[in-house]
Amino acid sequence: MIWEWEWEWERKRIGKKERDALHASQKGRCMYCGFRSKEKSRFEVDHKTPVARNGSNRFSNYQLLCGPCNKRKGKMTDGEFRCKYKLTPARQAKGPPSRRILESHFDGITKTTAKKRAKKRRSEDDWWGF
Ligand SMILES: [Zn+2]
Repeated sequence: MIWEWEWEWERKRIGKKERDALHASQKGRCMYCGFRSKEKSRFEVDHKTPVARNGSNRFSNYQLLCGPCNKRKGKMTDGEFRCKYKLTPARQAKGPPSRRILESHFDGITKTTAKKRAKKRRSEDDWWGF
């Protein structure tokens, strides 16, 4: 699903061509979790470095993310997101993960971070690493 404002934004900034090119270069997968779909409308175009944080509007700063990943990323940069969610660093990744990273992985970290913030826990939660 595409929010109306986003659609509006995309029409202005990112043409169908760019979106198609991203979809092809990422093999139809979300850059972070590996969610795969042939329907381009299932993905959202993200700025690796948000424009609000001086990210460029150049093609190299774009990537396709699934809705949940894009929402989670918010105003984080690509580097911050990968670090927080323990994903392969961009310079090693070279593309989306070939295996799907489950929603529970992301949720586990989101929750852990929230908990840590609430009360500074000494021990790390036992979320499964990979
Ligand atoms: Zn995703």
